[in-house]
Amino acid sequence: MSRLIIVSNRLPVSVARQDDTLTFQPSAGGVATGIGSLAQPTERLWFGWPGIASDRLGSTHKHQITEGLDEHGCKPIFLSSAEMRDYYFGFANRTIWPLFHYFTQYTVFNETYWRAYRNVNEHFCRDMLPLLKPDDRIWVHDYQLMLLPEMLRAKRPDAEIGFFLHIPFPSFELLRLLPWRRELLEGMLGADLIGFHEYEYVRHFLSSVYRISDYEPHLSQLMVHNRLVRVDAFPMGIDYQRFAESSRKPEVLREIDKIKPNEGRQLIISVDRLDYTKGILKRLEAYDWFLKQYPEYRKKVSLVVVAVPSRTKVDVYNELREQIEQIVGHINGEYGTLNWTPISYMYRSLPFDRLAALYALADVALITPLRDGMNLVAKEYVACQQDKEHPGILILSEMAGAASELAEAVVINPHDKEAIAAALRQALEMPQAERLRRNRMMQRRLSRYTVARWADDFIQTLDEVKTKQHVHGPAPLRGERRQKLIHTYQAAPQRLMFLDYDGTLVGFVKQPQEARPDAELIDTLKTLLADPANHIVIISGRDRETLTHWFGDLNITLIAEHGAYIRDTEGDWVAQVNPDNEWKEMTRPILELYVDRTPGAFIEEKTFSLVWHCRRSEPDLADLRAQELKDALMGMTANLNIGVFEGAKIVEVKHIGVNKGQAVLPWISRQQWPFIFVAGNDYTDEDMFGVMPENAFTCKIGPGPSRAHYRLNTVSDFRTLLAAMAAHCPRSET
Ligand code: UDP
Repeated sequence: MSRLIIVSNRLPVSVARQDDTLTFQPSAGGVATGIGSLAQPTERLWFGWPGIASDRLGSTHKHQITEGLDEHGCKPIFLSSAEMRDYYFGFANRTIWPLFHYFTQYTVFNETYWRAYRNVNEHFCRDMLPLLKPDDRIWVHDYQLMLLPEMLRAKRPDAEIGFFLHIPFPSFELLRLLPWRRELLEGMLGADLIGFHEYEYVRHFLSSVYRISDYEPHLSQLMVHNRLVRVDAFPMGIDYQRFAESSRKPEVLREIDKIKPNEGRQLIISVDRLDYTKGILKRLEAYDWFLKQYPEYRKKVSLVVVAVPSRTKVDVYNELREQIEQIVGHINGEYGTLNWTPISYMYRSLPFDRLAALYALADVALITPLRDGMNLVAKEYVACQQDKEHPGILILSEMAGAASELAEAVVINPHDKEAIAAALRQALEMPQAERLRRNRMMQRRLSRYTVARWADDFIQTLDEVKTKQHVHGPAPLRGERRQKLIHTYQAAPQRLMFLDYDGTLVGFVKQPQEARPDAELIDTLKTLLADPANHIVIISGRDRETLTHWFGDLNITLIAEHGAYIRDTEGDWVAQVNPDNEWKEMTRPILELYVDRTPGAFIEEKTFSLVWHCRRSEPDLADLRAQELKDALMGMTANLNIGVFEGAKIVEVKHIGVNKGQAVLPWISRQQWPFIFVAGNDYTDEDMFGVMPENAFTCKIGPGPSRAHYRLNTVSDFRTLLAAMAAHCPRSET
């Protein structure tokens, strides 16, 4: 059975050193719990930083740490304090964290941080590679390791890799600010499955991929160099039983007795890491407002604020701490009396029993992050509202990922202090039946989609993607298949090659005129043509003038406008169908209307077709307009001898009798060829692939389904293959 390899910044076991003694302390974080209770038990190995900077460790200590962690199924990635400073406290926590949480004012763009981030991701990759086995499943976690999936993929092209982002994925408008946005996307796209907590983040990710990279997602899938990649939402759950049953534990009951507030006073809690994303300041301002607006609640409520120390090496966290403490002081000073303190403030992390006691006691949990990938505290609180006559009410920010699953909470905008004050009042006054109803609904959901289900679901989906990849489309033209092609080529006394131009011999550019053949391509073609056994046909959608201008000097057959014209050996262009172009004057105004309505779009006119291009337009608008244009054209061309086709960022209206399949028929029906090679990249080339005899090597360039037998991922892969064929030709004299 394949192993599960987990990779995260920190290991689930913390190593601490007191003088010369090392201790290993397992910490029950969410991911570790989920993976620990997977339905299908598998051997596991976890890579991550052990918690002590490597420059503080001698080789003996490193050895002891490696051995000690081995017992816990962990492998340490030793990082120095400089690496941690620039990669973790730098790029991860001063760049990605604030930007992805929409805090542009705290986002630092620093080249040194970026380099360190890339280097540490490489460091992880380097240390992992020797320990990986071919059938391992690899699951990479979170924003510290966004480049790692692609780095692993480069070294292990067939590996099964999943990536999960535990923080929000921001809208394109935020991501585009980042100078290294493309690298981060490419890094994540090295995975086969990319998971987020919420569908909103999936949407943002796909939209950024669409705008920033060259890949085109369809629904939640895309092809990355001929590899199917799936993107989906997996909302992380909690260990439901552990929290739901906690109030029956004697240790928790003892804690409850210790912290129980005065009879008759309702308890509100606020529990988070001390982080600006959590909205603690705004929450306190709202509590202040609540006490001002509704004085009848003074002395009737108390708020317990638990702020867990976090990232104290980042300045803004320390500044925030001072501000929080100031406002706590202000509120207590303003409203407090000898026997009532409005806020009890704790700046520390609470152990499980104390936290569970607090959850069980609280009448209201006030959880108001300004942005939060998920927020597990909200779920834990709801799970703890068991066996209570008066179960507590969750007030939750709509900006938390958890809000989409916890719709029965009182959901508020965390920036709206009046709404928060009103929500507090509503929660404190809520009738018992309503409290029970709301909690029951949420508990039912939380008990089903637990953290174990979450981990299972992710792993199962990852396996499914991998299975789907293997049955998807033409076979990669590499290894033995490539050797067979070269071998057949060498042995054949006569060879016929049909080569498409755009997207096959050269890459796409935003302006079609810029895609002229470069010297290297011309040289390869000349070398191939120097061998009298080779008959080369360039078959393109381009017009006659362009093809003559680019290839007129070569001893090559040219087919223009998808087969409408063929240039014979005398060099004359011969029309293959009678031009009857009245339809053009009927359809042109519609195409023009859609050019006017779509900034960046333009019309290309060919003898037998009109093409509406939208490659330079805003992608969402282009998609919408392409659909509208297609519909409008379909309606009006139904009774004419023309067809409407949608291709890569184009809509084409053309004469129906003209297609590349028709155009190549005379060659293949006239004689038997011992070697036929056909290469193309889009829907117009499918007509060629479809009419070829079985022995032809048909090759699709790029992703997507095809009738071709083989696939090459990129134009550059294809040109490498052509060069390999040319290497077997006698050198050209010119
Ligand atoms: N937590 C804890 N002790 C505390 C406060 C919180 O162990 O004193 C735990 C809490 O049970 C929860 C986690 O810290 O599981 C916080 O997760 P959440 O998703 O709410 O926020 P994050 O810190 O990941 O941003």
